[in-house]
Amino acid sequence: MMRTMAGGQMIRTRSKRVLQCMGACSALLILAGCQRPLDWNGQPPHDAEEAAERITAARLSGHIETLAGDEYEGRGPATAADLRTQQYLSDQLAGMGLEPAGPDGSWLQEFGVIGITADVPKHWSFQRGAETLTLNHWDQFIASSGVQRTTSSIDRAEVVFVGYGIDAPEYAWNDYKGQDLSGKVLLIVNNDPDWDPELFEGKKRLYYGRWDYKYAMAARQGAVGAIIIHTVPSAGYPWQVVQTSWSGKQFELPSEGGARLEIAAWVTEDSAADLVRFAGRDLAELVESAKSRDFQPVSLGVTTSLTFENQLTQARTANVIGRLRGSDPALRDEAVIYTAHHDHLGIGTPDASGDRIYNGALDNATGVALVLAIADAFRALPIAHRRSILFLFVAVEEQGLLGSEYYAAHPTYPPGKIAANLNFDGGNIWGKTRDITFIGLGKSSIDAVVERIAATQGRVVKPDQFPDRGYYYRSDQFNFAKIGVPAAFFDTGSDFIGRPAGWGKQQVELYEEVRYHQPSDEFDESWNFEGMIDDARLGFWAGLAIGNADAMPSWLPGDEFEAVRKAALEAVSAP
Ligand SMILES: [Zn+2]
Repeated sequence: MMRTMAGGQMIRTRSKRVLQCMGACSALLILAGCQRPLDWNGQPPHDAEEAAERITAARLSGHIETLAGDEYEGRGPATAADLRTQQYLSDQLAGMGLEPAGPDGSWLQEFGVIGITADVPKHWSFQRGAETLTLNHWDQFIASSGVQRTTSSIDRAEVVFVGYGIDAPEYAWNDYKGQDLSGKVLLIVNNDPDWDPELFEGKKRLYYGRWDYKYAMAARQGAVGAIIIHTVPSAGYPWQVVQTSWSGKQFELPSEGGARLEIAAWVTEDSAADLVRFAGRDLAELVESAKSRDFQPVSLGVTTSLTFENQLTQARTANVIGRLRGSDPALRDEAVIYTAHHDHLGIGTPDASGDRIYNGALDNATGVALVLAIADAFRALPIAHRRSILFLFVAVEEQGLLGSEYYAAHPTYPPGKIAANLNFDGGNIWGKTRDITFIGLGKSSIDAVVERIAATQGRVVKPDQFPDRGYYYRSDQFNFAKIGVPAAFFDTGSDFIGRPAGWGKQQVELYEEVRYHQPSDEFDESWNFEGMIDDARLGFWAGLAIGNADAMPSWLPGDEFEAVRKAALEAVSAP
């Protein structure tokens, strides 16, 4: 789990569309050898139920105990322990009879990672005529390199206020209005328009409201720098989170071309107000003017320069991929992809007890165990699923979802042939629940599949229980959504059987306080696997239903990722 830089957001579930018919055999398919329809309205079909019996506490805990053991040294990226982890996963997949599905026919999809440490100066100055305004690093601004070079530099660039910095055709909203912003530094309001439920889904934060979108869009305009204005309500977290998240070594994938900023920065709200006042304007008035489709970029009549040195490091790691091929000749070139990240934080600063190994038992040996157990259930099916099923263990999640970003940039199936991504990041170690937290609820037709199957378990599907943290955009499924693939994250339920209301939330909060990203996230004999078993079986049956359905899942109408899905489907449709 990568829980820093969470975006504050409210989840609103939309009215659900009735899902397409799931996998009823057509006459043609019966001829092709599809034996019987899967009826999920009652109970799971007998064969699928039997296969799911293979998902047991012993199977799950075995993987977790191994991967979270001290000999795996916290599975830090690009370490010997990383290679041992990749080997363990490859061995497990091979042992289950899966086929290697890396791009070169091996189990691995290898890639490089670049680490950048910026030496940001104490002061950043802005000029207006003969006058100068200086902002102080850390307390007033935070800056990082946008380029993978030893120097990042902005030289006497004009500062332009661009409102929200959003170009969203589906909302007929474009803050840039085609203006030439090359060589400029853009000052940007955080979040997306949130005052109207018809615009950007109201209070809910969409991708348009995130810092990564804003920096990428600014670069696409040809800007050399971008400054996001931090406020607690618009970010969902205090300035201190900006400080800690953007200091020290930052990891990213090697650039493959494409526009990049020289410098990506944040300023506090007070400093933004100072800067705008320095330009002879009022920040509140500018922000108000940005709340309109008619907004035009505003040049502040201020220029700025900033140069700093960067230290670069390079490393290599790998995603691990296994496959079970589909049985239907017409659908087997489409895939359902399960993901769980295999990396954690490695060896680091010792805790009070002197422990330096960040074992990452819950985060994310549990998710890896869930996906391995699901793979084992799939291969036990007497009748193979129609679509192919991919089991993808991604690397370098903790430093910014980089393994899934690499896969999404270099997918082994065209995005338009990927039916869905089902992600696991952190399993339930606290017991049976009456619910499942489904992160991504309200976005795609996967909802209906999961709701129907959860009902056969006597469980209900709930949205993110921490809506202010924006988990949908903080785990690996997000990179699949960005290439259009309907994607969701199975998270721990909150309504525990035999426990008082609020107990589940307390356990999660307690974990976050005393174990999350600490050496104490270790395997514990006292963990209760009953809930994790239910979640694994639900995930298995959901993937099976999607793998057998006539049609692939789709985004609900109007979803932020619908347009990119449409393009992906068009790209693979026969001319
Ligand atoms: Zn984590």
